[in-house]
Amino acid sequence: MTNTDFWTEGEPVVDKAAPDGPIETRWERRKFAAKLVNPANRRKLTVIVVGTGLAGGSAAATLAEQGYHVKSYCYQDSPRRAHSIAAQGGINAAKNYRNDGDSVYRLFYDTVKGGDFRARESNVYRLAQESVNIIDQAVAQGVPFAREYGGLLDNRSFGGTQVSRTFYARGQTGQQLLLGAYQALERQIGLGNVEMNTRHEMLELIIVDGKARGIVVRDMITGEITTEFADAVVLASGGYGNVFFLSTNAKGCNVTASWRAHRKGALFANPCYTQIHPTCIPESGSHQSKLTLMSESLRNDGRVWVPKAQKDTRKAADIPEDERDYYLERIYPAFGNLVPRDIASRAAKNVCDEGRGVGPGGLGVYLDFADAIKRLGQKAVEAKYGNLFEMYQRITGDDPYETPMRIYPAVHYTMGGLWVDYDLQSTIPGLFVVGEANFSDHGANRLGASALMQGLADGYFVLPNTINNYLASGPFPKVTAASAEVVEARRQVEDQIEKFLSIDGDRTVDSFHRELGHIMWEYCGMERTEEGLTKAIGLIRALKEEFWTRVKVPGKGEELNQNLEKAGRVADFIELGELMCIDALHRRESCGGHFRAESQTPDGEALRHDDEFGYAAAWEYFGADGKPTLHKEELEFEYVHPSTRSYK
Ligand SMILES: Cc1cc2nc3c(=O)[nH]c(=O)nc-3n(C[C@H](O)[C@H](O)[C@H](O)COP(=O)(O)OP(=O)(O)OC[C@H]3O[C@@H](n4cnc5c(N)ncnc54)[C@H](O)[C@@H]3O)c2cc1C
Repeated sequence: MTNTDFWTEGEPVVDKAAPDGPIETRWERRKFAAKLVNPANRRKLTVIVVGTGLAGGSAAATLAEQGYHVKSYCYQDSPRRAHSIAAQGGINAAKNYRNDGDSVYRLFYDTVKGGDFRARESNVYRLAQESVNIIDQAVAQGVPFAREYGGLLDNRSFGGTQVSRTFYARGQTGQQLLLGAYQALERQIGLGNVEMNTRHEMLELIIVDGKARGIVVRDMITGEITTEFADAVVLASGGYGNVFFLSTNAKGCNVTASWRAHRKGALFANPCYTQIHPTCIPESGSHQSKLTLMSESLRNDGRVWVPKAQKDTRKAADIPEDERDYYLERIYPAFGNLVPRDIASRAAKNVCDEGRGVGPGGLGVYLDFADAIKRLGQKAVEAKYGNLFEMYQRITGDDPYETPMRIYPAVHYTMGGLWVDYDLQSTIPGLFVVGEANFSDHGANRLGASALMQGLADGYFVLPNTINNYLASGPFPKVTAASAEVVEARRQVEDQIEKFLSIDGDRTVDSFHRELGHIMWEYCGMERTEEGLTKAIGLIRALKEEFWTRVKVPGKGEELNQNLEKAGRVADFIELGELMCIDALHRRESCGGHFRAESQTPDGEALRHDDEFGYAAAWEYFGADGKPTLHKEELEFEYVHPSTRSYK
């Protein structure tokens, strides 16, 4: 046990559900060993699913299809407005339709390596195995994936790979996949097997006799607070990138569902692993409340460059070819423009730090399609990326067919999340976590087009085969609104609402969120240092104190009150921000999305320390002494041996 100024170290955490033996058969063996629930008994069991994105929508539809009674919740006005709808570029699968050397093993290998050897091999192998089933499932639902001239599904490439395995529907892959999952969900709603609750926000987890048995929700239209019960609870509540205020995530994305579960005992793993996406439209001013992604698929044909000279203010078209630096192609010739996101983002930061960035403030690099248009013709480029080009033009006023796009890295995805075992069960029995909300598969850096794959693998194939093992011991004793634990959970929610409304301070919720975002970006963003992180922790603690004395939440609890909704989310983001900085501080190595300036090679590449940090960091909520407790899960690599990650 070690005890530092900022954290305490506790016992290791062990994944007891993980099978051993040959990796190719681990999933089959786990499924066979798991207990089943017979179809007649499934009707007697209820599962709550929080979230209707690709992970939650697919999980709820599949569990209902199996015969369970499902209660589904989302804060949007329709399940199909979940943030997954924003996903643009594609979804990976090891189908090897291109016959270019792909396989389940290669997808597994690329993902473990891409995650900088900080993910579990068993989980990643299973993900690669299930990837092929997702495509079949989606095609059967009618998802209109792009096809090539012969009628087969088309593929393109994403970062960190040398094969083409990304299936796509123009730049709207998330939307089309979500429509598929949504239709499956609607079918079950129509049959009465799924009870759909839109505009309902989960604000607390109910634990009875040590098991997750329900949630406390607020009806966001009327403000009514209710308690909802089930035999198991599934969180599919998405990622927490909005802790940075500015990100490519939908404005509503938040950490509240996960954080309230964390406060009640669910360990939170690798919170500092944030993905900064290299190709986003640069920030244009302090008025901005969100950032826009330009899909990674654009790097299939777009070439990234900056002027060779510093502070070159000429227009792109006026800079001759020999005065341009196609720096990704130069530094990483093997992968070129398709290096993984962490590498591409850092390289963009480096050239901008050298004074060679373009556009206002020098915070931008070019993504240029001139060569692709010359080679393929404008029509072909339009067919592949038309909607993305249109979106770029609408936002910036520039026509990317005529002039290169200007892009810069921005917060995009969070690899961290609630710790789950191989069965996707958290450290609270009966609480399962799927999709971006868990930490399971991507290690320190997610490869492009792998989030949709993971969310749908979890929801359609993994959870429906593992939750049975838990539910087979149910139905559990009845819980009622009068149970002491339920009364207490409800009281916590009501007290917090009352507190927000009574502070009556002089600062808006948004102003706190924006300030938190600045701190996080400055000190826990693309580059982190011991000094910066220590400073950030102090700043966040002071911000927290100020928040609870100066925040202004107008209106009432019993009405539609967006300030009240946001206040709860920002309160959780502040605590999460502190934990992220502590996690980043304790990990004195660079890996994936976590770059510690003190730990780099002489040529500026990330330097891991496998002997010291080859583990997942699972954190227990802050104790009475104000410190979180670290539980390490040692990672074992039997198949893909940790090596220096090279894309050169
Ligand atoms: C712009 C953009 C483009 C992307 N493109 C790609 C891509 O091309 N390929 C790829 O693989 N990945 C992509 N990603 C990542 C991917 O879209 C997400 O990781 C994935 O969709 C997350 O799905 P999810 O089901 O886990 O969560 P989400 O889709 O975020 O859904 C969360 C759900 O939880 C609900 N919820 C949350 N909290 C509560 C609460 N407290 N109470 C009630 N309900 C709650 C929400 O209402 C929502 O229904 C992209 C991400 C962004 C931002």
